[in-house]
Formats: sequence, structure tokens, C-alpha cells
Amino acid sequence: MVLAQLGGGISRALAQMRDATVIDEKVLTDCLHEIARALLQADVHIKMVSDMRSNIRRIVNLEALAAGINKRRIIQQAVFAELCKMLDPGKPSFVPTKGKLSVVMFVGLQGSGKTTTCTKYARYHQRKGFKPSLVCADTFRAGAFDQLKQNATKANIPYYGSYMESDPVKIAVEGVERFRKENSDLIIVDTSGRHKQEAALIEEMRQVAEATKPDLVIFVMDGSIGQAAFDQAQAFKQSASVGAVIVTKLDGHAKGGGALSAVAATKSPVIFIGTGEHIDDIEVFEVKPFVSRLLGMGDLSLVKKFHDVVPVDQQSELMQKLTEGTFTLRLFYELLQNLINMGPIGQVLSMLPGFSSELMPKGHDKESQAKIKRYMTIMDSMTNAELDSTNPKLMSESRISRIARGSGRAVKDVMDMLEEYKRIAKAFSKFKNMDKVPKRNNKILDTM
Ligand code: GDP
Repeated sequence: MVLAQLGGGISRALAQMRDATVIDEKVLTDCLHEIARALLQADVHIKMVSDMRSNIRRIVNLEALAAGINKRRIIQQAVFAELCKMLDPGKPSFVPTKGKLSVVMFVGLQGSGKTTTCTKYARYHQRKGFKPSLVCADTFRAGAFDQLKQNATKANIPYYGSYMESDPVKIAVEGVERFRKENSDLIIVDTSGRHKQEAALIEEMRQVAEATKPDLVIFVMDGSIGQAAFDQAQAFKQSASVGAVIVTKLDGHAKGGGALSAVAATKSPVIFIGTGEHIDDIEVFEVKPFVSRLLGMGDLSLVKKFHDVVPVDQQSELMQKLTEGTFTLRLFYELLQNLINMGPIGQVLSMLPGFSSELMPKGHDKESQAKIKRYMTIMDSMTNAELDSTNPKLMSESRISRIARGSGRAVKDVMDMLEEYKRIAKAFSKFKNMDKVPKRNNKILDTM
């Protein structure tokens, strides 16, 4: 996603400052200028950028800082804190509780990804042990009910809707009533969108909200809409009591910064981001790990999880392998072995987007176990050179045919396994340089 470029821009500005021999007004001004440029290029709202700049200037008073104080550190801390502040409205959103009924209503413009996100949200909670249900109160878009029905059926989530009824309020009330009786603890109501915010949409949202009394209204926003995001989010906030935001399509070419400005416009936190069309392509959004990742300081949540779940005596060896940045087939083999034995690293792996959904779709079911074993059998027929290679071109057709023959599998199976390996290697690039994180970040983390 283009947000990575934003992170790159900010990190470069900070690195230039680190390279400067003396930190004076000019260095600080240049650094802030570069950071502002990166933010504006990513479509962050202009007012937020200028606020951020003046806040940092206020915090970092170079003249007042006594000699001996690490000015670079103070500036870095201020940038980190300001970015976090920009993304954190200061009040948490409502969080559904398992076993206790919550009604959550989704609002947003047509095409923002609302219906897709409703199912992702339901599935996320289903995995956590909730009993979610979906109500399609979108009577405006032809095909909306079919889409929700299809998604819900695939995910095995009960749904309610109607082909005949045109009154969204009636459907919403009936759906909520039905699932309340069926002891669902999370009733998700999908509402109509329009191409732009218009009076009819606003009125409909208000009526559905009044009739269903949601505990939380989630505003779904397309991550690619740029600077328009701020005004759109504000318009929704004024007409529905938006309590949280989900930004979708952050997997594509979305600059993302615009939609993230929605936090300031709605004074509501971004709780998830959508990262693809698949039902599991949803990530919990947390401000500090996000900013940390943005600034190239590593994914702190991953680091924390790693330290939490991997026994201390295994940490250094695994960490070394994972952070070397070369994800070989041999390492893939070791990880699969760990996964199949339910080892601790399996828990860390499950945090990587794409890993859990593909390799362990329904926990450790038979199908995924068989797949993992198949991959391992294929790798058993590889030579040491193949297992340790970092050259993707090494796997020629003749090698693939030999491996297929040796493992008693079809050529297609070997190709599938290599594809899976490439995908996971890509996800693993997040671990690269992770070992440097604590050292490099300690200073900043002190203040978090
Ligand atoms: P709605 O009109 O707001 O209900 O939007 P839909 O849920 O029908 O989504 C519109 C399109 O966006 C569909 O093609 C979805 O597959 C796609 N979409 C939704 N969320 C994401 C996402 O996070 N990433 C990508 N790439 N596509 C998404």
C-alpha cells in the first residue's frame, strides 16, 4: 500500500536529521518540511498536517533545551507522539462483549466496501467465539441482499433480509428481533449507501438507527478517496452518531492518509482496516503499532507477541533466523514443522495476514494438516542447495519435475507449494530487522 511510501518519506526525514552534525533551527525546519510533504502526498488533510507541524515546533524548543539533552531523541519522540495523536481520537470505541447482545450498524457510501466489511467483521467475531448474525437493510442497491446472503452462507453466519420488502426500517427491526430471539450476541445491520451523501440516505440512516438503537455505528470508508475523506467523514458524523471507522481497500493503491484523516473528522477511532476482497482480509487497527510500522520501526505488536509466546530459550535462535531477511525453503519447512506440532511460533504465524487464512483456515483441521504434510513431503525431495537457496530462478522446470517424481506428487502440487512459499516469504518480510527494533526503539518506547 502507498502508506509504506508515507512511512518511507517520514523515516528519510528523520534519518537526514540523524545524519546532521548539529541540530539547529534549520535542520528542524527541513525535517518538519519533509515530514509535512510526505503526509500531504499521502492525502492527509492539510489542516492536520499544519497542526502537527506547529505542535512539534511548540514541543521542541531548541533554544530552551539544555546542552547535553539529546535533541534528536526529543524530535523523534515528538514526531511519534504527534502521529499517534493524529490517529487517536482519545476515546475508545464500544467493544462488543461475548454473550451479551450488541447491535452494530454499518453506514457508508455505496461501493465503500460496507457489505463486504460487515461479513468480515462478523467472521472476525465468530472466530473469537461470538454468535454473530447479519441483517441486510440495504434495499436501495439491487443485489445487496444476494451479496450479503452469499458471503454469510460461505462463512456460515445466519442472515436476514427480503427480496420483497422495500422498507429498510421494517427489515432492520424484524431482523434484529429475530436474532435477538435466537440468542445472537452480535447483530450486524448493513444499511443502504448512495453515491454521495444525500438527504434521503441521511434520513434513512437516522430512521434505521432510531428503530434498532445500535450500540455502535461503524462508518465504512474507501481508503482511496483522498482529501475528500475528511468532508465525507464529517458529513456522516453529523448525521449518524458514528462511533468507529473502518477504512477499506488499503491493499491497493490507496494513499490511505486521507481516510485516516477521518479520525479527526469523526473523533472516532479506526478499529479495523480492510486489506483485500477475501473474508479474512481484515486487520485490527492499533495506533502505536501502526505508527511504529509506518516509521519503519517494526511491528511492535508482532514483536510483543513473539516475546510473549516463544519461550525465552528459543527466542534468540528463532529470532536470528527470522530477522536475517532470507526466508529460505528450509526455514519454511521448520516453521511448518513447528506449526504442525502446535509450537509457539505457530501462534506468531497466525498473526501474519494471509498465513492463518490460507494454511490454517479452520484452526488445525484435517485439511490444513494434510496440506502442510504434503508441502513437507515435497520439500523432503529437495536437495540442500534447493532448500538453502535464495535465488528464485533456481527452481527450473527440470528441478520441479524431479521433485514431483521424488515426492510422488504432481508437478502442479510442487508449483502450488512454491507459490505458497513465496506468499509467506513476502508476509515474513515484516520480521526483517525485527531484532533491531528494541535497540533502536527503546528511546521512543520509553515514553509510550
Ligand atoms: P458496498 O456498496 O459499500 O456495500 O460495497 P461492497 O461491499 O459491495 O464492495 C465494493 C467492492 O469493493 C467489492 O468489489 C468488494 O470486493 C471490494 N472491496 C471491499 N473491501 C475491500 C478491501 O479491503 N480491499 C479490496 N481490494 N477490495 C475491497
